[in-house]
Formats: sequence, structure tokens, C-alpha cells
Amino acid sequence: MARPWLIMRGMTEIATAEPRRLLVHWLLFFVIALGIGYPAVSRFDPRTVPGCADAGRYYEMVSGEQAAASQQLLRPLVPWVARPIARLSAGHLPSWDPVAFGLLIASALFSATGALILLHIGRTHAGLPAATALTGTLLYFLNFAVHNKHLGCGLVDSGESSLMLALYWALLARKLHLLPVVGLVGALAKETFIPMATIASLGWAAVQFREQRWRAAQGLWLVAMIVVGLISTSGAGNGAVAKGQALAIAIRTYAVVNAGRHKREGFDLCDSVHCQVPRSANANSRRAAQATAGRILTYKGAPAEIFYSASCGGRSLAYATSAPLVVRMSNVSY
Ligand SMILES: [Zn+2]
Repeated sequence: MARPWLIMRGMTEIATAEPRRLLVHWLLFFVIALGIGYPAVSRFDPRTVPGCADAGRYYEMVSGEQAAASQQLLRPLVPWVARPIARLSAGHLPSWDPVAFGLLIASALFSATGALILLHIGRTHAGLPAATALTGTLLYFLNFAVHNKHLGCGLVDSGESSLMLALYWALLARKLHLLPVVGLVGALAKETFIPMATIASLGWAAVQFREQRWRAAQGLWLVAMIVVGLISTSGAGNGAVAKGQALAIAIRTYAVVNAGRHKREGFDLCDSVHCQVPRSANANSRRAAQATAGRILTYKGAPAEIFYSASCGGRSLAYATSAPLVVRMSNVSY
């Protein structure tokens, strides 16, 4: 008969064997993260909380209904991870918002991974006893900033913080060949990653130099990380601009094709879902309109009849079945 102490010893052995120990710790952190962020999926809507205005943008990036180019489009990493989770869980969560759920799971994945890296740094590179390293990690994990910004507010700081911890680990473990990957993913988490990573890396380099451990190859990896990060940041930004411009062209095409729809009432288009629902212009939408001025989509030489909607009702068709058209870009006189 198995005695309680034998079971305890068995569990301890499972929990202390690498890589099982890593997995057990990661699962512990993940469950803690879910518990901290749980209110955001059912108790309140982070988009309506003062100081959480960005949450609405990330929510739109996950649900795919973003209205205009914005600063938040430079931070696609966490929304990218959240989107398939939101889609898969839609309809299976009786009382939870699937988009908020997707954002919570994505942030919890990054938060738990960041905490695991911190624990590993404490145990392996700072030479701390296992219990001290775990206590330090839990102090990091349970502080107000994690609760407020990573999990409970639908924000994306979990991505940036876990990648900063990955950077510290790569520097401490001297796995500098991983820095370009860290730079690429970190820059997609938030545009402030590369400036912060550059400052942290320069501090590390100064210490290496003082201790006469500096090698030219290390500098090359640091430069590679910064260059890759800057390219991916500007790529994400260009994507945001291009989306705004594509929307401007679609709106203009629709207006050209449907002009005169309300001729009898004495105007061209109404501002309801019957025609087009305009939201008030902002600096980004004005720039997109000016950059594409006079451009519409055409089909066989005439303005193309295009369809788009604010909501697909949760279903979409493959492009080939819904729009077997070849449209091209043309200029019109307005
Ligand atoms: Zn109308």
C-alpha cells in the first residue's frame, strides 16, 4: 500500500526533475496568471475602464474589426496569438467574451513564460537557492503591475516583458546567436522593445568590456538584434498604414459605385448600415484618404461593385467562393 510520504516523495521527484520541473513551474505560473486575469473575461469590460483605452484597440485587432490605423497596430504579437484562441473558443464559452478570453490566454502564455525565464535566471545564473529564486519570481508575478497591465486590462505588456527576460537570459547564458530572434519577436510585441533592449545590451557590453571578456562577434549579434528589430517594427507600421489606405480605397469605390442611391430623397448616400457608416475622421484616416486620393478599384474598366461589412456574423467564406472577381486599381477625378 502506498504510504502518504511515498506519494509526497514521488510528487517531489516529478516536480524537481528537469524538464518536468520546468513544465510544472510553467503550469503553476499559467494557472496563477489565469486566476489574476479572470475578472476581465466576465466581470468587467477593460475597454470601458479609465486608463485602459488601448485595450479597445487590441480588442479590435483580435476581433478583426479595427477601424483605422493606430499606434497599437505596431504591437501585433499578443493579438496575433490571441486571435486563433478567440476564434476557436467563440460559441463554446457561455458567459465569457471570447475576444477577452483570447487576450487573457495569450497574455497568460507570455506572463508564465517570462516568469519561468526569471526563475531559471535566478537559479542558474544568479546562483540562488531554488526556494529563493521561486520566491523572487512569485514576488515579480504577483505584483500590481502584472495584475493591472498584463492580464486584467487586456493589454499587451506581457509580450514585451517576457521578451526582455528572454534577452537577459540570452546574455547571461551567452547564447548571443539567439538575439536576432529575440529582437524580431520583441519588436512585434511593442515598439519600445528595441530601445529598451539596446540600452540593456549596452550595459551588458560595458560590463563585458571592463571584465576583458568582450569579443567582436558579440557586438555583431547585438547589432543584428537591433537591425532585425527595427526592420520588423517599421514593417508592422507599414502594414498598419497599408490597411488604412486599403480601407480608404474600398470606401471611395463604394461611394463612386453607389452614388445616387438616395437620389429621390435628394442626396447620394446615407450614413447608416444601408449605405456606409462613417466614423469621425482622425489624423490617420485623413492621411490614408489623402495618400490614396482619386484611387478606386475597377473591374473590366468600370468601378468595381464591392461589398464589405462591419460584422460577418461570425462566419466568413473563402475568397474564391465569395468574390470571384479580378479587380484592379484605377484613378478617378476625385
Ligand atoms: Zn442608404
